[in-house]
Amino acid sequence: MVVARNQTGICPYCKNSNRFEGVQYYKYPHNYDFPNRELINGVEDKTKLLRTCRCTACQEIIILFGEQMICPLGAMRPSAPKEVPTDISQDFNEASLIEPLSSKASAALARRCLQSMLHEQGISKNNLSQEIEKAMETLPSHLSEAIDAVRNIGNFASHPIKSTNSGQIIDVEKGETEWILDVLEQLFDFYYVQPTLTKLKKKALDEKLKSANKPPNK
Ligand SMILES: [Zn+2]
Repeated sequence: MVVARNQTGICPYCKNSNRFEGVQYYKYPHNYDFPNRELINGVEDKTKLLRTCRCTACQEIIILFGEQMICPLGAMRPSAPKEVPTDISQDFNEASLIEPLSSKASAALARRCLQSMLHEQGISKNNLSQEIEKAMETLPSHLSEAIDAVRNIGNFASHPIKSTNSGQIIDVEKGETEWILDVLEQLFDFYYVQPTLTKLKKKALDEKLKSANKPPNK
């Protein structure tokens, strides 16, 4: 997610794609950056730079410390697409929100989100590991490989999590939680966004055929 002055990105407040600008006050026309004085090999350490910018649409101010957004807190990933059912998107959005603070809690919510999504797709087994296995049969190979790797995170394939307890806390590394959330984003696209787009395109095609007095496309 790009949040930087004079660049365009998704605003964490209004969720629209807008340009960000510097924050300027009437009396002090500077940009409210707090440069870090520490130099690494003569270059400023950008990981410790406090930056501010403002969304040109909703005017809300965003504060970043290095690459971490600290206001609004957490939201470095875009929210789940609007096509995703509410209970599933809520778990994902909360998992993203707490990702920088607790990898374990974020991963637990992300796994629960994954399991709800698989249930919603009609895949229901004794535990999440088996459900992933079942889902892999119908997913394209790149997604199948991606979701298989989720099973190895926290080694939960060998410690099966029961359907009723997918939110169990398991030790995970930061990169592993990122992986689960990345996979969820790809699955949202596959299960919800792309089918909706196809439906809309099909509808537009049928309307064109109708206006040309032709039968709808099968
Ligand atoms: Zn905004």
